Amino acid sequence: VSTIGHLFVASAASRYTLPRTPLRTLVAWTAVLLAISILPDIDLVLPKFGIPDTFTLGHRGATHSLLAALIVSALVTLVAWLTHFPPWRAALGALASIGTHSLLDTLSPGPGIAWLWPFSTQRLPTFPILPIAPVDHLFSRYGLSQLAAEAFVFLPFLLIALIPRRGEDPGTRP
Ligand SMILES: [Zn+2]
Repeated sequence: VSTIGHLFVASAASRYTLPRTPLRTLVAWTAVLLAISILPDIDLVLPKFGIPDTFTLGHRGATHSLLAALIVSALVTLVAWLTHFPPWRAALGALASIGTHSLLDTLSPGPGIAWLWPFSTQRLPTFPILPIAPVDHLFSRYGLSQLAAEAFVFLPFLLIALIPRRGEDPGTRP
C-alpha cells in the first residue's frame, strides 16, 4: 500500500476515536494520526539524508516492526494523557493508524517486513493482493491506474471518515 491507503484508514480511525469534539481538536488529532500512519515509510527518505540503510535495515525494516508501532503509539498516548485527552481513545486511534501500516504492507507487493526487529532481522513474507501506487513513477499511465485502484479499494475508509452520522453536529467534522 502506498500513502493513500494508510491515510484513508487513519482518517477513519480519527473519526471513530473522536466522534464528538471541537473542530480544532479533531483537525489536530486527524493530523497526528495521518502523520503516524505513514511514518514507517520514513525509511524511504532517510537514506537521502545520509542515514545509512544499516540503521533502518532498508525499506520495510526496523520502522515497520511491531516494536516501532508500539513505541510510537505509546508516545502518542502519553502526550494525549498529558494534554487531558482520553488516553484509551488515543491508544486505539494510534494503533489503528500506525499498527495497520505493516499489516496493509503485508498485503501489497514489495519486500518482506521485519516485524520482529530488533529481536530478529528476518523479514516475514508478504501476500500481495492489494494494488500499490508506485511512488517513483506515479504519473505514468500504470502509476495512475494503480493509484486509482488503491483509492478505490480504500474508499470505504474515507467514506466512514467523511459521511455525517445522524445526530452529529456537522460543525465537528473535518
Ligand atoms: Zn510501509
